[in-house]
Amino acid sequence: MTHLIGEPCLGVKDASCTTVCPVSCIHDVGDRFAIDAEVCIDCGACVVVCPVSAILPAADQPSEWRNTPTKLD
Ligand code: SF4
Ligand code: SF4
Repeated sequence: MTHLIGEPCLGVKDASCTTVCPVSCIHDVGDRFAIDAEVCIDCGACVVVCPVSAILPAADQPSEWRNTPTKLD
């Protein structure tokens, strides 16, 4: 399990999530931010600070987010 960042981050990218992540596993990947699934500890701290609700536990993501990568390229 990990948390994932979905499409709502596109074009927003305010980076609020990166300031609260205790393990610094959220990275700028170009058009959005992405979570390194190998490092994420599933604490949920990033979920509540995202202004566009782009972050969810992997298992709870809407079907339209299924293409969201779980690992950094
Ligand atoms: S769930 Fe926690 S560890 Fe994982 S990306 Fe969010 S803040 Fe970082
Ligand atoms: S807080 Fe939300 S919108 Fe901002 S960079 Fe993180 S995932 Fe993207």
